[in-house]
Amino acid sequence: MRIFIIVIVLLLAINGAEAQTQPQETGPADALWEIYKQGDFEGVVVRGKAMLITETETAQVNLAVGRSLVHQEKYDDAFPYLKRAVEMDPAKTWVYAWAEVYLGISHYKTGNDGRARQAWILARDCQATANATRNARENLRLLGLSEFFDQWKSFETEHFSFRFSDRLVDFNRVDFARSHEEAFGVISKWFGGGPDKKIRFLLWSSQEEADEAGMQALGFSRPDEYLTHAVLGQTVGHEMTHIISRYALNPTVITGLINEGVAVHMDLTGRDQMLRARKLMNEAAVRPLKVSIPALWMDWSLAPDTYSYPVAGAFVAMLVEKGGKERFFEFFVDQSFKHAQEIYGDDLLVWIREFEDELYQ
Ligand SMILES: [Zn+2]
Repeated sequence: MRIFIIVIVLLLAINGAEAQTQPQETGPADALWEIYKQGDFEGVVVRGKAMLITETETAQVNLAVGRSLVHQEKYDDAFPYLKRAVEMDPAKTWVYAWAEVYLGISHYKTGNDGRARQAWILARDCQATANATRNARENLRLLGLSEFFDQWKSFETEHFSFRFSDRLVDFNRVDFARSHEEAFGVISKWFGGGPDKKIRFLLWSSQEEADEAGMQALGFSRPDEYLTHAVLGQTVGHEMTHIISRYALNPTVITGLINEGVAVHMDLTGRDQMLRARKLMNEAAVRPLKVSIPALWMDWSLAPDTYSYPVAGAFVAMLVEKGGKERFFEFFVDQSFKHAQEIYGDDLLVWIREFEDELYQ
């Protein structure tokens, strides 16, 4: 249920800096890495290609061009440069390692999991540089491609590519898949759209199992990667709502209150979230602070998850009910408090006051 407020580009959470931190001799690629660091990938491609024609070809120049093409999402174009970088670095230095990392990304993005796995294992196992090793290892783990997952069972349905832990006992994968397909139908209909690719859905038997694999706290989704890591016992609708809403409505400004709120609202449990939040407020051993809705909107970390999630779910339900679905969708693309004020006008503060009165009565 974790939220990723910062939209990170999975697999590319690296920048040009590491190229500069490597022990390296000066060479023709130095100027390229400077441009690369500034994020001018087209500039690297243009200058790099010219250098490959007119100057001495080096592994680094090929790597810089290949990486820049990957950053531009031109995966097919990147392959020859990255392969050439690998060929030209038989000593398997950092150049080789990063070329394999980026080959893995290109294979993965073009739908070849097997070759992505191979490339990342090569990058990881050559241990040429800590950052490349870590990047390869994390990609393998996050996408369920490392050796840890070798015994997991695959199950393909229309909208999901499931991977089920081999430690799930008394588990009916057909029922699980069916309930998720049904939920997908309901939720994508509600949003009027959904992802253009299957959701890669990894189901763990427990958090302990995930800890063993070095995985972060479950469950979570990475909509940009069509990826969900879930643990048995989660609601059927929550995680897929993150992915479906992302592709149906393309939000650009995401806040915890709204993005988690909609996932709770659409979790398909039918639970009364207001009731849950009030029970927690009145019965928890350590009572959460009575945070105001605008405060929680601005800073999602103000309240514990067990409390803020049902509050958010109830709040979104209220917004949809009072303002209508159409206006909610219009608002959803920029989930900030400021944008809500623009969309809902003076009503918003009135509704918030009524909501807080009901919550804290
Ligand atoms: Zn969530």
